[in-house]
Amino acid sequence: MSYIRKLAILPLLLLLSSCNGQDEVQQQTQFRIQSGHDLSILTTTDTHYLSQSLRDLGPAFTRFLAAGDGKQLGYSNEMMEALGYDIGVRKPDAVIISGDLTNNGEKASHKDLAKHLRQIEQDTGTRVYVIPGNHDIQNPWARRFKDQHQYSTDSVTAKEFRKIYGPFGYDEALLTDEDSLSYLAAPSDDLWLLMLDTAQYGNNKELGNPQLDGRVRASTLKWIDKCGEMAAASGAQIVAVMHHSLLDHSDFIQEGFTVNDNAEVIDALLRNGIRTTFSGHIHIQDISEYQQDGESIYDIADSALSVYPHQYGLLNYSSANQTLDYSTAKLGMEQWAAASGSTDDNLLHFNTYSEANFTKRSASRSYSRLSEDPAYASYTDAERKAMADVVGRLNEIYFAGTGSTDNAAVIASEGYRLWQSAPAGGTRSYVLGLSAREPKNNHQLHVQLPER
Ligand code: FE
Ligand code: MN
Repeated sequence: MSYIRKLAILPLLLLLSSCNGQDEVQQQTQFRIQSGHDLSILTTTDTHYLSQSLRDLGPAFTRFLAAGDGKQLGYSNEMMEALGYDIGVRKPDAVIISGDLTNNGEKASHKDLAKHLRQIEQDTGTRVYVIPGNHDIQNPWARRFKDQHQYSTDSVTAKEFRKIYGPFGYDEALLTDEDSLSYLAAPSDDLWLLMLDTAQYGNNKELGNPQLDGRVRASTLKWIDKCGEMAAASGAQIVAVMHHSLLDHSDFIQEGFTVNDNAEVIDALLRNGIRTTFSGHIHIQDISEYQQDGESIYDIADSALSVYPHQYGLLNYSSANQTLDYSTAKLGMEQWAAASGSTDDNLLHFNTYSEANFTKRSASRSYSRLSEDPAYASYTDAERKAMADVVGRLNEIYFAGTGSTDNAAVIASEGYRLWQSAPAGGTRSYVLGLSAREPKNNHQLHVQLPER
C-alpha cells in the first residue's frame, strides 16, 4: 500500500489535548494513518551523535575514541545518512529513537542531529519520534575535541531539548506529561506510542556526571493511566518506549540500567494493556519477557546504532491479527557508502572495519590485564592471546545478541578451554558466565496484543 493512500485527516478528538499551538498540532496530525491499516516502525537507539563541528581527527579525539566503548563517533554523519538511506528503502511509517541521541548532550550535536532527522522526514515521508536518554540533557561531560585537548561545550536544558525535537514527537503529542519529557503520540489511529522519559538530569551539575540510573515519577505513573484511558476510549493499542530497561537484560549489569522500581512501572503498563516496550541504554541486543498473573510483558532492548553490529529493529503491526512482529536488520552503511560514491574503505567495508575495531578493543584490554596479572605468569604469550581473543569474541556476541547461534564455536576453541582451567577471577567468571547464558532469540518476537 502506498504511503499516500494511508494518510487520513484526523478525527477531532485529538485537538483536545495539546499545550502546543493548535495549528501545528492540526497540521502534524493530519498525517495519521487511518484505523484498520497496518503500521511499520523502525526502532533504534543510542545514536550517540557527535557533531563534526566539535571534533577534528587529532590526538584528543583519537584518544577519546580509543578509551571508549566502541561507538563510531567519527562517523556520526555517515551513520545518519545511512539510516536515512535505509529508511528510504524500507519505507517504515515511523521511526523511534529511544534516547542517548547524542554523545554527551552537546547542543551542537542535538542541532545537527535534528537537521538530519528533518531531512529524513522530508525525503522519505516517515515520522520520527524521540525521547532523551541519560546522556542528552544538562550533561557536564559535553566536550569538543581539538588537537591535544578536550574543551567543555554547551549542553542543553530540558526546555531546549523539547524545542529542538519539537518536530520529532513533542509538537504532535496527544498528551504530554508535566513532570518529565514523556508524551503520548499516535502515528496511527490504532497504534499509539507511550514515549517515557526515564532520565534524571536535575542533579547532573552537582554530580559532575550524567546520572546513570532511570526512574518514572509517581506523578508520571498516574499520567500513564490517563494515556491508557484515552487509548482504551479510542480502541487503540499502546507500545511503550523508554531509554532505561523495563526488565533486566544482563546477569552482569542491572544496577543503573534497569529502571528503578521497575515493578511499579510494569504494573502501570500492564494495567493499561501495554505488553511491549522498547528500550536502549544497555547497548546490548536482548529481549526479555516477564509474566504476571498469566500476562506477558516484553522489553526489547535494541543494541546501540552507534556500536557494532550497527543494527536496528523493524516492528510490524497487523491490524487484522492484532499482532506485533519484531525483527532486526543491519544498518546499510556499506550500501549507502557505495551508492553515494564514498572512497573511504572503512565505510565501504564497514562491517569488517567496525567488527575488528570493537572486538580488538576488548581483546587487547583483556590481553593487557592477563599480561600484568601474576596469576597468569605461567601462561605463554600465545595462550594469553588465545584467551584474550575469546573475551573479545564473546563480548561481541553478547552485544550483538547472537549467543544462541554463535557461542558454540567459541566454546569449542582452545582459548576457551584455557579459561575453563584458569585461576578464579573476574574475567574468568565473565567468560564462563557469558558462555553459560540460556540461549534465546533476541532478534525476533511475535506478540499477540490484548483485545480492544
Ligand atoms: Fe548509550
Ligand atoms: Mn544511556
